[in-house]
Amino acid sequence: APAPDAADAMLAEQVARGERAALARAITLIESRRPDHRRRAEALLQTLLPRTGNAVRVGITGVPGVGKSTTIDALGSHLTAAGHKVAVLAVDPSSTRTGGSILGDKTRMARLGTDPNAFIRPSPSGGTLGGTAAKTRETMLLCEAAGFDVVLVETVGVGQSETAVADLTDTFLVLMLPGAGDELQGIKKGVLELADIVAVNKADGDNLPRARAAAGEYRAALHLLGARQPFWSPRVLTYSALTDDGVAQVWEAVLDHRKAAEAAGALAATRQAQQVRWMWTLLQERLAEKVRTDPAIKARLPGLERSVADGTLAPTLAANEIAALLGL
Ligand code: GDP
Repeated sequence: APAPDAADAMLAEQVARGERAALARAITLIESRRPDHRRRAEALLQTLLPRTGNAVRVGITGVPGVGKSTTIDALGSHLTAAGHKVAVLAVDPSSTRTGGSILGDKTRMARLGTDPNAFIRPSPSGGTLGGTAAKTRETMLLCEAAGFDVVLVETVGVGQSETAVADLTDTFLVLMLPGAGDELQGIKKGVLELADIVAVNKADGDNLPRARAAAGEYRAALHLLGARQPFWSPRVLTYSALTDDGVAQVWEAVLDHRKAAEAAGALAATRQAQQVRWMWTLLQERLAEKVRTDPAIKARLPGLERSVADGTLAPTLAANEIAALLGL
């Protein structure tokens, strides 16, 4: 990997000292599409790599309105009060370059937004899910290098974004609404399968019985699914992000999952597998980028697409031609 120039070596030091402005600048480099920025970001990451890996990485998902921002605000404040440094990141593949992301927006998290021990960064915008997730992973590493020991990665269930976030994190937390049955129908297939912890939010006031009923339904559903990890049966609990009731128990469940994974040797193994998948994602991104930007391919693509669409050219032959232009 290229060595960083003097200015970027300084930037790396500032990030390592936990300077927020430097961290923000470093993330901007990571998110940039400019090739020179990309190269600087790579050098920066390589320099900081020995300082990464020390955070508890938690993925958080749930439908809009379930209380993700309220939960992150409550959980994050609970953690900073206990002396942790908390970074909040987001993966929102639907966010646009202009509109920005609704996820990971500090205005949604009143307490954490002004907490000196919290750092909130919205989703990188535009691009594919793979690209967005890769940038979020790099941002997570920068946050770890800057001394954040808890990273919360938020996503709303768009496309495969939960899977992508589960692949970035150690523990995956699925937030649910009170009221079983109907809600159970609305949950995307597969999300429960990713869950290490299912937490039914809004267990307060009149919602309490419905929250408990929902928890029971999810326990049964998870029991039917069977164990995804041999060392852990997904835990189901109820809490209220509004009153803070049970928020500490949500965190305890995260730590319990972590301890169980560590004891089974699965934490390191999972991260290793994630790193390798990340490499493949980056490679696929590069290939896709090449296909999009290579002049010869760009010139041929519209014609090939048209011929494939109107049935005059077999998709295989079109793919062969593009592959040949790639040198394959
Ligand atoms: P998000 O879209 O998943 O980020 O959800 P929000 O955090 O914005 O919450 C959606 C709505 O649910 C807001 O009106 C919150 O005040 C409310 N809410 C969040 N957590 C709770 C809770 O624990 N109890 C109750 N009663 N309402 C909550």
